[in-house]
Amino acid sequence: MTELEKLNSEIIVCHKCPRLVAWREEVARVKRRAYKDQEYWGKPVPGFGDPNARVLIVGLAPGAHGSNRTGRAFTGDASGGFLYPALYRAGFADQPIAVSRSDGLTLKDLYIAAAARCVPPDNKPTLEELNNCQPYLEREIQILKPKVIVCLGRIAFARILRMYSVRNPSFKFAHGATYQLMTGHWLLCSYHPSQQNTLTGKLTVKMFDDIWVKAKELLLNE
Ligand code: SF4
Repeated sequence: MTELEKLNSEIIVCHKCPRLVAWREEVARVKRRAYKDQEYWGKPVPGFGDPNARVLIVGLAPGAHGSNRTGRAFTGDASGGFLYPALYRAGFADQPIAVSRSDGLTLKDLYIAAAARCVPPDNKPTLEELNNCQPYLEREIQILKPKVIVCLGRIAFARILRMYSVRNPSFKFAHGATYQLMTGHWLLCSYHPSQQNTLTGKLTVKMFDDIWVKAKELLLNE
């Protein structure tokens, strides 16, 4: 078993946050009408992607009827329906469709993690829950040693700053903003591809495509 596989096997049995354990199981039991016949994953969602990735995506947390249902990051909901086609266009994914863990999708040079691995009520993990989950992200970064960390949304960005004890006030979240940490990692900020952003036009296809172009440019800055 590789270090990454070992880490993922630990993540999927985690019970550190009682509120989230109860919620992920409740969502999996009640289900959405459209998925009544499916067995929900209902556990923490592990990282997914290329173990040799130089680009790491840090999302927020699993979607209730997306990855909490399918067991794979951004799989089976509208956020993934916006993310994976963009990754496909950029050459980071070998197909634009992500519907289940067995759909054949593979990622190249990219790995997907999250600030919290369990679905939170109202998409809002507490500070304590984020702190509980942070060691998993730290270990992923230690193992992968990514060159570029793409933070999808303010919470992911704040988590990375906290992880690296960055207190520089010039590090502010803005779509497309890039910063280099003392460690050499590049941070790239993007709005999260949630429906709240994509349906309102806050995040357009072009804006999102530009993020992945920028990620590739940052890889050339090694
Ligand atoms: S959010 Fe993270 S730390 Fe909390 S129970 Fe889920 S996997 Fe464990």
